[in-house]
Order: sequence, then structure tokens, then C-alpha cells
Amino acid sequence: MTDTLLFDDLLFTRPGLDRAGHLRTDPQFVADLLSADTRVMWVHQGEAPIDADADATALLLMSGTQAAAALGDSAATLTFLGLDPDGVAYVALHVDDRALVPGQQFWMGLRDAGRDLPDVQASAFVSAVGIDNWRRKHQHCTVCGGVLEVGSAGWTLRCAVDELDHFPRTDPAIIVLVRDADDRALLGRHANWRGGWMSTIAGFVEPGESAEAAVRREVFEETGVVIGPDAQSLTYLGSQPWPFPASLMMGYHALASDTTINVDHDEIAEAIWFSRDEMRAACESGDLRLPPNTSISRQLIERWYGEPLPGDWSR
Ligand SMILES: [Zn+2]
Repeated sequence: MTDTLLFDDLLFTRPGLDRAGHLRTDPQFVADLLSADTRVMWVHQGEAPIDADADATALLLMSGTQAAAALGDSAATLTFLGLDPDGVAYVALHVDDRALVPGQQFWMGLRDAGRDLPDVQASAFVSAVGIDNWRRKHQHCTVCGGVLEVGSAGWTLRCAVDELDHFPRTDPAIIVLVRDADDRALLGRHANWRGGWMSTIAGFVEPGESAEAAVRREVFEETGVVIGPDAQSLTYLGSQPWPFPASLMMGYHALASDTTINVDHDEIAEAIWFSRDEMRAACESGDLRLPPNTSISRQLIERWYGEPLPGDWSR
């Protein structure tokens, strides 16, 4: 296997904001985040308002002073997301009430809006949603049950009782396009998916497990296919943050040493080996629908295939 390039054009992995983490603990910088020189995006339940007046898909962004005026005395927490290439600070304002946000807008989730946003805004949105998911699910200290207070410009939650700092979670997961010696590719259909929807094999890395061991285990558990034991049987290609709710998808190509399919019928309902001709024909007829081109799964498949394939889950 010679495919060693990292993904350089994958959604949420392209260069975006400079996180500038050292500024999170600068009290004066944090105190000034709602000022004229900053850009504020709003977040509620993992969604953000999209600017209804813009020609192309864009977040509804306003200056810190505009946002502070709209917020008034209402409760909100903020996250410093980073600096854009011009050094402008981006801020997420997490609110309980969408009616606070002025102007023409409609709200969208990251899955729907992400692919169409400029890279800096996509970068801001993916961090904001990740933090928002985490904070909504971690309202109490996991050690003592005490109330947690936002710190480090949004990036920590500190227990008011024992002063323990809690940090945002990222759950490592693997996703893999398995190939065989005849250069066929293995796709599986999740038990909950409609007929024809298929994807690469994926699963979470368990405590004490390497990502490579997780690839071998997940592929075998879900499909019965065995990945070769030698290091050359696995090629790491890149990663994609996928905050639904908190995954980091690590993408591989793998080479099978035993291609016999024996699906678990629990997570995976069916698995099929596709030759290149079979995959194109199935995509063109609509019998096979692949994940959207924003996903690392689609990129793993098309990296194997060598060019874009038609159709996806939405069509
Ligand atoms: Zn505590």
C-alpha cells in the first residue's frame, strides 16, 4: 500500500482559526471579548444562525458590542474560538433563547451548513458545537456532584466545591476502508440504515487499545473480515473532528488477509465486497448510496476509487 498522503481538503481539517490557547487565561483579553473588534457567532443546542441576507452560506456574525447589546441582561456563556488570519478574535455566545438574536436569520446545524461555509467559519462552528455539546452534558462535577463554572474562556469547567478542572472530551474512533488482494473494497450497512445506504467500517477505540488494534477488532467483530497482522496492512490517512457528539475519526486503509464475510447482525446488517466496476455501476443505478462528500468515509472510498463517485445518502 503506497497511499500515504494525509487529507488536505477534508471538511473541518482545512486550516481555519488559530486557536491561540495562550490567550484563554489572559484576564484582560477575555474581559474584552465582547468589544467592537471581535466577531461573535451565536449557538443554541448545537445550531447557529445563518445570515439570511448573505449571497452565499455564512454564519450570522456580529461585533462583540452588537452582541452584548442584543444579549442585555440575559444569561449566556461564551467561548473564545481563536484568531482569524487578520488577528480578529472569534467568539461563540451560547444562549438559552434564540429570540435574543436580532436580524434576518435561520438556524442550521453543522452537518447541514458545514460544507458550504468558508473555512474560517467552518472551523469556528466545529469548535463551538464541540464545546456546546460538552458543556450541555457536563453541568455537574463527575467527582463530587458540585456545580461547574466556565473558565479559560470557555475551555474548562471548574468545580465550585473541590476546584477540580474538567476539560472538553474528544472520543477517538477509527474508520477504515478495507481492501483485498484483488483491490475490492468492503462496505457495510448499519442495522438502522435504509437499504442501499452503505459506508466504511467504524467504531470507538476502547481504553488501553491502540487505534490500529481497534481497526482490526472492529472490522472483525462487525464483518468477520480479518486484517493482515503485518504493519504494512494498515495505512493511516488522516483524521476528522466529528462533534456528534465528540468524536475524532482517524481514517485508515487496510488490507484483508481473510475476506470471508460474517456480519454480526447487531451493528452491521450486511457487508459487501465491491470491485471498482461494481461500485460505479451500483452508485450510478442508485442501488448503492455513499455517505456525503463532507465525510471522511466518502474520502476514504474515493481515495481508493481514484475519482469522485455519483450520488449520496441525500439523493
Ligand atoms: Zn467537584
